Amino acid sequence: LPSANPIRRVNQEITAYAGQKQQEIDELRRMEVFRREFIADVSHELKTPIFSAQGFILTLIDGAVDDENVRDLFLGKAARSLKALAALVEDLLTLSQIESGDITMRLEKYDMQEQVLEVFEQLENKAERRGVALKLVSQYEEGIYVYADYNRIRQVLINLIINAIKYGKENGAVTVTLTQTTKNLKVSIKDDGNGIEAEHLTRIFERFYRIEKSRSKQEGGTGLGLAIVKHIIEKHDSKISVKSKIGEGTQFTFKLQRTEVIEEV
Ligand code: ADP
Repeated sequence: LPSANPIRRVNQEITAYAGQKQQEIDELRRMEVFRREFIADVSHELKTPIFSAQGFILTLIDGAVDDENVRDLFLGKAARSLKALAALVEDLLTLSQIESGDITMRLEKYDMQEQVLEVFEQLENKAERRGVALKLVSQYEEGIYVYADYNRIRQVLINLIINAIKYGKENGAVTVTLTQTTKNLKVSIKDDGNGIEAEHLTRIFERFYRIEKSRSKQEGGTGLGLAIVKHIIEKHDSKISVKSKIGEGTQFTFKLQRTEVIEEV
């Protein structure tokens, strides 16, 4: 074939190459900004519980320790701050582990219905304190088997159900619904809280994103729960979606690969 004007072709290639380099540079810049923002966010989040615990302990050292009531109160508060700090570090480690791609999901077959009930049992006290009823809706008598990472999905359920309890209505209900499709099991977690406005809905999966800072803080979260949930579901080659109606409540839904009922050997 007669070649096109060779000089022009070379020029085009050079332009394409330069364009590619620019793309790489832009990407590196974006990552650098992201990294800097992340470090700033983490430092800020760490500072709060550290300074709080420090404050109580220093006040105790300054003499508050002599009053038995004040001593117990401040020790309790310092302990709570350190517990929040531990939760934050734990969530950060989980998130960085998942994001770095170091971990793979350990897929196994297990009964989802049983897992939901186990998580309910674990969160019973939390739910009771807010008068929230935990309900499982599934039309199946027997087990519903999925192919998923048991521990990671337990984490997903815990994070979503704790949120539903925290941000749901007092004396309300949290409902987990399991629906089978041909290949998948659809899991949805629904609360009857105030709901989430559209402008926030797309952002709640971002790390440290909170809607009402004061209220969310007071509820004792790390702001990382949903970021972790999203990553874990994506690692299962799936997606998580959220629907919300102001004044009515919020529903999170994800799918997992379903397996046929396994026969006991
Ligand atoms: P947090 O530790 O603050 O709960 P998450 O990542 O779990 O962090 O959630 C991010 C934010 O999304 C929360 O601070 C809260 O404002 C909002 N949110 C999460 N779940 C719900 C829900 N079920 N109803 C209303 N708001 C919610």
